[in-house]
Amino acid sequence: MLNPIALLTQSFKHDALLSPALPGRHGAWVQDRAVAAYLGLAIGDALGATVEFLTPREIVQKHGVHRDITGGGWLRLKAGHVTDDTTMALALGRAILAEQGQVRPLAVAQALDAWMRAKPVDIGNTVRRNLISFRRTGQAEAPESEHDAGNGAAMRILPVALCTWGKTPEAVLAAVRHQGHVTHHNALSDAASLNLVQLLHDLLSGIQQPDKLQERLSAILHAHPVFADRGRRRDNPSGFVVETMQAVWQGFFDTQSFEDCLVDVVNRGGDADTTGAIVGMLAGARYGLDGIPPRWLRALESSVRTQCEQQALALLAYSPGLP
Ligand code: MG
Ligand code: MG
Repeated sequence: MLNPIALLTQSFKHDALLSPALPGRHGAWVQDRAVAAYLGLAIGDALGATVEFLTPREIVQKHGVHRDITGGGWLRLKAGHVTDDTTMALALGRAILAEQGQVRPLAVAQALDAWMRAKPVDIGNTVRRNLISFRRTGQAEAPESEHDAGNGAAMRILPVALCTWGKTPEAVLAAVRHQGHVTHHNALSDAASLNLVQLLHDLLSGIQQPDKLQERLSAILHAHPVFADRGRRRDNPSGFVVETMQAVWQGFFDTQSFEDCLVDVVNRGGDADTTGAIVGMLAGARYGLDGIPPRWLRALESSVRTQCEQQALALLAYSPGLP
């Protein structure tokens, strides 16, 4: 297995981090993509929650093609409300902003613990277990575990991507690990989170060509072959981060619009709020605000929408990449 820094540096050959904005990409353009990424996360979560834990066949029977934000699902959500995927990202974002753009493990652990005390609508088992152990021990970093390969750290990674755009590969990797290890100290979780940050940085830099973006996939597949889908469609993805990322990549690279991308991914069922949230951030950064269907924007709970918009800009302001 390659060392992650070597891998990161190697896969940044074409890139982005060292010379952030491509010619013609202005601050306002990047801000649009950052805000769209955050709204995409919340929209994917709100859309997917309706069909979370259903199989594709059950979704067809109940909804035909699920393409509207209607609430319901096993959490009996109100239409436009979001789940842990979005609210944990917002808690993480607040912790980063309180630390002037730095990702500090203790601040992240305290923020996520406060989030858990506020009784969120749902919470993953790994998140709960490791936050309870943080309360007991005061150790912000969970012990390394091969079992903690759930998607809970990857799903909330967006604030880290927004405040680290333009930082060195070493600083980006450290930030990814600092936030992730609070609840998921696991190599596959780290690899997925890093891949998402790299793709988001590419997209913020104006890189749109699928073959360029797919170089990020080559890197993670080389380091962790378990992520390979072997040409099989990933339906019904579980909370295992490998299955999550397979569904996300397939939906992201096989569609040409924000709407098609999110509809493709959430209709695969399984952990659909989380695959929706993750692919929503990527699709937002790829297609921008203009690409988001107005009916989905209108449906999103207004306080969530405002928090996403404000945090996206505030986090991006700490990023050295902003022109
Ligand atoms: Mg959720
Ligand atoms: Mg979920």
